[in-house]
Amino acid sequence: MWMREIPLSDSYDVLVVGGGSAGATAAIQAARAGARTALIEKNSILGGTTVVAAVDFPGLFHAQGKQVIAGIGWEAIERTVAKGGAALPDFSISVGERHWEHQVRVNKFVYSTVIEEMCLEAGVILRYHEIPAAIFVEGDERRLITAGKAGLMAIGFSKLIDATGDANMTEMMGYAREKGETLQPGTLVYKLAGYELDQVDEDKLRELYHKALQAGEIKETDHLPGDTPLFRELRSRGSSSLHITGIDGSTSMSKTHAEIEARKALMRIYTLLKSIPGCENLYVDFFANECGIRETWRIIGEEHIDANSYLSGHLWPDAIGYSYYPIDIHKHDSNTTDVRPLAEGVVPTIPYGALIPRGSEHLLVAGRCAAGDQVAHSAYRVQASCMAMGQAAGAAAAIAARHDISVRHVDIEEVRQLLREHKAIVPTL
Ligand SMILES: Cc1cc2nc3c(=O)[nH]c(=O)nc-3n(C[C@H](O)[C@H](O)[C@H](O)COP(=O)(O)OP(=O)(O)OC[C@H]3O[C@@H](n4cnc5c(N)ncnc54)[C@H](O)[C@@H]3O)c2cc1C
Repeated sequence: MWMREIPLSDSYDVLVVGGGSAGATAAIQAARAGARTALIEKNSILGGTTVVAAVDFPGLFHAQGKQVIAGIGWEAIERTVAKGGAALPDFSISVGERHWEHQVRVNKFVYSTVIEEMCLEAGVILRYHEIPAAIFVEGDERRLITAGKAGLMAIGFSKLIDATGDANMTEMMGYAREKGETLQPGTLVYKLAGYELDQVDEDKLRELYHKALQAGEIKETDHLPGDTPLFRELRSRGSSSLHITGIDGSTSMSKTHAEIEARKALMRIYTLLKSIPGCENLYVDFFANECGIRETWRIIGEEHIDANSYLSGHLWPDAIGYSYYPIDIHKHDSNTTDVRPLAEGVVPTIPYGALIPRGSEHLLVAGRCAAGDQVAHSAYRVQASCMAMGQAAGAAAAIAARHDISVRHVDIEEVRQLLREHKAIVPTL
């Protein structure tokens, strides 16, 4: 069937692909700004990495005692707190380099339900179980061809937001992307239960671990660093995570490989631990549906956030929000991390141009695939920053659709004003 023969199922001012931290926020903002908006999500639930990969600790909304990211993302956190799905840390206490103490631990059920409710209240049309297959552009006509349970559909759009995390739409529309030669490991979050820690003999565990390592029954990357491998996992009341190296989560096949490898690693841990006295009744109480992916593609944008601009807190002339996180690069071949905290007084900003694929007229990106180098990306990819980018992309797309202009020609002051009206914190120029 030719693409133009695929029946047009609907048309939207703003079409968002991907319902994670960035995409859900973008859709809510666009709809609240009056755009007829739909959100396509290949899974059955919103929240992306936060929910399906169980990285359920969004951050950072505060920098050095001051809130720097608010708006729709923060409203989702407050509504989650109000329903008993999170407790806020004391942001007035300086945590220095222990930045994780200012992340907000959310209950995945409450949080995902809250953002779904916010989408529906705003009038966002949710389209779960659908995945884009192609894009058809002819003159002023733009259609996204998707595959759903009932087959192929064509969806008309004025502006498209790529919030897939992997710049999937950017590739489909033919704009340039880049990817590091080596990628950070992926991570599977899991929880063990049913064991008696006081009956576990550390020496015995060490001996069995080394035997298994020699026999190839366990890998060093399967567990957290520690004197007695796997003891830390047991001591932490079973809540843990494991790294998967040498994977690339950007395509269906490579992501399939990542999921298979992650579950194989957890099976190795489970099998080894069950042979230790005290762990006979051990079981896997929880494992995330997906292996969390830290990085894949970044767009080549109209602007580019490099390490220097991030670490110096450069104030971009088209800044749409802040981002606050240390450089945090997990080494691809070991269990070590390169962490570089931001200097006192530095709060980096995100330029609108980093959300525009170079040369794009109708496509914006938001979230993990925004433009920058691998070093800066390791910081601006975090969830609060993705929410700020999502809100900005939603606002800009709604304005561009309203005026029927290119995303490159929106008046940045109009975007910044709309963001402020919706309670986002926008850097003062
Ligand atoms: C192990 C790990 C630890 C981390 N630690 C932290 C931390 O401590 N604090 C923090 O804030 N952040 C942390 N991060 C980073 C952060 O979680 C992610 O970078 C962030 O959630 C990305 O948000 P996003 O909206 O850009 O993408 P995602 O959350 O990945 O959302 C993308 C969404 O798009 C959907 N999608 C993808 N492709 C398609 C497609 N082709 N069609 C339809 N739907 C599609 C996906 O199903 C998903 O719902 C961590 C990440 C990992 C992996």
